[in-house]
Amino acid sequence: VSNKEKREIVREKSAALYEKAKTFFPGGVNSPVRAFKSVYGTPLFIEKGDGCFLWDADGNKFVDFCCSWGPLILGHNHPKVREKVIEVMQNGMSFGAPTALENELAGLIVNNNKYIEKIRFTSSGTEAVMSAIRLARGVTGRDKIIKFEGCYHGHSDSLLVKAGSGLVTFGETSSAGIPKAFANETIVVPLNDREAISEAFKTFESQIAAIIIEPIPANNGLLLQDREYLEFLRNITKENGTLLIFDEVISGFRVGFEGAAGYYDIQPDIVTYGKIIGGGLPVGAYASSSEIMSHISPDGGVYQAGTLSGNPVAMAAGIAQLSELLKSGFYKELNAKTQEFAESIQRYASAKNYKLKVFKIGSIFWISFTDKDKIQSAHDIDAGGMDKFKEMHKELLNRGVYFGPSGYEVGFISSAHNKMELEKVKRTIFEVLDIIFK
Ligand code: PLP
Repeated sequence: VSNKEKREIVREKSAALYEKAKTFFPGGVNSPVRAFKSVYGTPLFIEKGDGCFLWDADGNKFVDFCCSWGPLILGHNHPKVREKVIEVMQNGMSFGAPTALENELAGLIVNNNKYIEKIRFTSSGTEAVMSAIRLARGVTGRDKIIKFEGCYHGHSDSLLVKAGSGLVTFGETSSAGIPKAFANETIVVPLNDREAISEAFKTFESQIAAIIIEPIPANNGLLLQDREYLEFLRNITKENGTLLIFDEVISGFRVGFEGAAGYYDIQPDIVTYGKIIGGGLPVGAYASSSEIMSHISPDGGVYQAGTLSGNPVAMAAGIAQLSELLKSGFYKELNAKTQEFAESIQRYASAKNYKLKVFKIGSIFWISFTDKDKIQSAHDIDAGGMDKFKEMHKELLNRGVYFGPSGYEVGFISSAHNKMELEKVKRTIFEVLDIIFK
C-alpha cells in the first residue's frame, strides 16, 4: 500500500449505530472511554474479533492493540476458550450454588501463585477492589486509605477520588455523586514520592487501613515504579499496621502468572484481579492469606456477595485461558515479542529525532510523546503530547491498526499477535510517525 496516499476508512455503519446508541445510552456507550472523546471521530462498532484482528460494522479490519482493555492475552476468540465455554454452557448458565469449576479455576490460580492462599471471585475488577478495601478496613478496624494520583481502581465511591491541593490532603471526589465524607477517608498522594507517604503516616497515624497501588500503574500512561519504591511501601505499611493492596487487575497474569507481586517479588497483603482472569467474560477476584480471608463472610464479619459470582461460564473461560498461560515458555515468548516491537519503534523514532518514548513491561507498552526517559508519576506526563497521540490514532485507524482511544491508555500484545503482523504494524507506525512529525 502506498505510503503517501491519504486514506479514510468507511465508517457509515458505525456512525449510524452510534447515532442509534445515543438514543439509548448516555453518550451512546456503556463505558465512557469507548465514546472516542479523546481522539478524532466517533466509536467504531465492532462486529467480530479473531486472533489479533478486529472487524467493525463497515467491514474494516484492524490489528487490535486494545484487546478489550487487557483481558484477551490469547487474542480474540481463542479456540480453547471458546470451546470450553460452549462445553460448559451446554449444562446451563448459572446456578447460584457452588460448582466444581470454581474449585478448578481457584486451584489453577492459588496453586501457581505463592503470594496468595485463598481467593474470592467477583464479577468485575471494580467489585474486587471495593471488596478488598472493605476487607482491609474490616481487618484493621481503621477507615482511611491511601491511593495514588494516576492509579485507577474502578468506579467505587472511595476510589473515585483525586488529589486535593498540597502534598498530603484529603482527596476530592473525581465524580459527582460521591459524598464528601467518603472522599475524606481517601488520602491521595503522588506516585514515587516517599516523603508524601511518610507525611501521610505522620498526619494520620494509626488511622490508615491500607495503601492501594497498581504496582504497575497502567491506567494513566505506564508509570513504571522502581522496585525499591514498592519495597518502601511494603516496609512502611508493615511498620504501621497498615495493609498493602496490590491492584493487579491489569498486571495480574499479564507480566507473568504471579503478576507484579511475582515480577518484583514483593508480598502484598491483599491482591485484586480482573480482566485476564476471566478470559473475556466478567470475572474479578481478590485474594490474600488464609488468615486475612477468614474475615470474609460467612467465616468472618466482612460481608461480600454476588448473584453471578463464580458463574460457571465465566469460570470456564478463565480455566481455559489460564491453562494456556501456564504452558512452559508462554510469557517468555510473549514478552520477547513485545520487547522487540517496542524497541524497534523506539529505534526508529530516536534515529529520526522524533520526540517519542516507548515504555514497556511484559506485554504492555505505552507510546508517549515526550523526551523524558522515565515517567513515574502523573505530573511527569507530557500532556502536550496528547495532540500527537490523537493524530497518530487517526492515521493508524485509517491504516488498520486499532489502539485504545486515548493517549493515556496502554497497548497490549497477545499471543495471537504473530511476528509477521507485528512487522507489518511496525512499518505502518513508522509511516504514521513520519506523517505526524513532518
Ligand atoms: N483496577 C484496575 C487497575 C483497572 O485497570 C480496572 C479497570 O480498568 C479496574 C480496577 C476496574 O475493573 P472493571 O473495569 O472490571 O470494573
